[in-house]
Amino acid sequence: MRRFMGLGGVALTAVFALALLSAPTPVAAGSITAGETRVESEDPRSIMFRVSVEAESSLEAATFNYKVLNPDGNVGGGGEADFVPANQTDATFTLETITATRYIPVGSEFVVSWELTDGDGTTVTTEEESFIFLDGQYDWTSRTEGDVTVYWYGGNEPAAMITFEATRAALAETEALLEVEVPYPVRVLVWASEDDGELARQPRSETLDEELITMGQRVAADVLFVFEPDVDVVRHEAAHIVTKVAGDGPFNDAPSWLDEGTAVYMQINRGNFGDAVESAIELQVPLDLRSIQSPPNQARFNNLFYGQSWSTVDFMIAQFGEAAFAEVFRTIKEGSSTDAALESVYGVNQDGLYNLWREANGMAALDFAERPGSDAGPVAEATRAPLAIPTSVAAAPSGGSSSSTDDGSTSGGGTSDGDDASTGVGDDDANSAAGLIVAVVTLLVVVALGGGAFALFRRGRA
Ligand SMILES: [Zn+2]
Repeated sequence: MRRFMGLGGVALTAVFALALLSAPTPVAAGSITAGETRVESEDPRSIMFRVSVEAESSLEAATFNYKVLNPDGNVGGGGEADFVPANQTDATFTLETITATRYIPVGSEFVVSWELTDGDGTTVTTEEESFIFLDGQYDWTSRTEGDVTVYWYGGNEPAAMITFEATRAALAETEALLEVEVPYPVRVLVWASEDDGELARQPRSETLDEELITMGQRVAADVLFVFEPDVDVVRHEAAHIVTKVAGDGPFNDAPSWLDEGTAVYMQINRGNFGDAVESAIELQVPLDLRSIQSPPNQARFNNLFYGQSWSTVDFMIAQFGEAAFAEVFRTIKEGSSTDAALESVYGVNQDGLYNLWREANGMAALDFAERPGSDAGPVAEATRAPLAIPTSVAAAPSGGSSSSTDDGSTSGGGTSDGDDASTGVGDDDANSAAGLIVAVVTLLVVVALGGGAFALFRRGRA
């Protein structure tokens, strides 16, 4: 059940969608003069860059170059611009921002320049110009204070101000908790609804998406999308900005339960997530901590995944203190596996931590001695999404369908494909022909090396 937010009024008119950050003086070298770059974008799927050129001996060649600034490493490219050779002409370059292999999120900062060659063979390169890429469907306004800028449109200013304050507060509090500082500015885009932001999002699993409402999303290390201007949604996403800085190293990331648990911990209220873990404890059916290294593929486990991740983090901090908690993040970032980091800080691995948590919540400890890989062995991890996939916070709407696709559960030791665990139990669809059930094979890539394990894909986080 997704909320209906009207799209009918959206006008796809061409607008200037990028905010110009720098206004360089026009280039006038030799016989070539270029104006400022203008940008046009009807919607967030593409951008057209345009520059007016005067060349006494006609423009003969034009190349466009761009960089997208990203704390994880800039990406860039460029190519031949389109133009009609003439003394006065416009050169244009159209960049697709969302393709099978490329996702440049709204809120990204571009640095662009042009290489222009005239009929005499003179080539000039224009000064670099900076832009913030905004969704051209809307007329954006922004406010900046310190390292945080919030963007909104239409009548969303109240939501934007709530978002702005919540972002700043959550960044500061999470930085204090994890003993790190985010070393770059953060931009937050506030949409009036999830539907309004649809075209700006990366394509994703339809099945899961139909069952979940996305309320917020970290789309880059320094960019947040907010669809639901709720203080806790914003605090959650802002916390992810900091967990990334605190826990993601060159070789290792914090596991999902630690990342999401911290993000929920930074919320003021846990809402459905808290309810989900409480009832799982009551029924003695929590998730094995080791099974939530990455988010569950089934919507029905969504709230429990967040809730149990939070409960585990809450337990860690209550039991061992904030300083030790920050140390766990630091140790993972430096390259330790999650098990090794927990072992060195708390003296227990993930199984041991899970048992401490179980006992603290009135459940018996489990015997993990038989579990392959429970100690020094490899940890099987579910398929991970490609680099730079956004994090998001999602909630299963009440009364949501129970249909599902696969179960990325792990089996011990080596590689394994996922179970064909279609679980339409209790649903009318449960009797549909088996042939209609699409089993998504979860590829587990496990490379055991000495007592450690490397996962070859980075995990996507919900
Ligand atoms: Zn999250």
